[in-house]
Amino acid sequence: MSLDTLTRMILVEDLVDRVKGRLLDKLVNNQTLVYRKVPSHCKECNSDSIVGVEIMGAKSGILLWECEDCGEMFLKYNADITEIELQKAKDFWTNPRDWGYIPKSKFS
Ligand SMILES: [Zn+2]
Repeated sequence: MSLDTLTRMILVEDLVDRVKGRLLDKLVNNQTLVYRKVPSHCKECNSDSIVGVEIMGAKSGILLWECEDCGEMFLKYNADITEIELQKAKDFWTNPRDWGYIPKSKFS
């Protein structure tokens, strides 16, 4: 695995919109494949444009892999571990949209 593997930071809410139940089921179709290192190619479309995905609020570092071409996601850790991390992230960013505008008076 090269050191220049691309990563990007995303919020769980960017991926999953108000999902109830298991977050992972909405993200990763094939949960039996686990890639400790970046997959050489996408199992779906054979593209080799795989990026690491970091999720804010979850453990630091790459949590999932994503194919840039077809959007397919792949596991780096087993499904249970990944789900726990996603749930942590969900709690962490309960509802970023509610932060919204803070009136200036609040800063005085
Ligand atoms: Zn793909």
